[in-house]
Amino acid sequence: MLVGGKNECIACTIDNCTYHAKSEDYCTLEKIQVGTHEQNPTKKECTDCESFKNQA
Ligand code: SF4
Repeated sequence: MLVGGKNECIACTIDNCTYHAKSEDYCTLEKIQVGTHEQNPTKKECTDCESFKNQA
């Protein structure tokens, strides 16, 4: 649920993403997709926010 333009359920520090709340470390989307670029993910480095969009 969005509160004051941010989703308090999704904390995020990637502030060069279009969807980052900027003033606070939260995402502004209602939901995000998490996925992987690996065949067999074994570490957190293997996971990706697939909703990420580079800030233009
Ligand atoms: S879309 Fe992903 S990377 Fe972008 S602010 Fe939301 S959680 Fe962070």
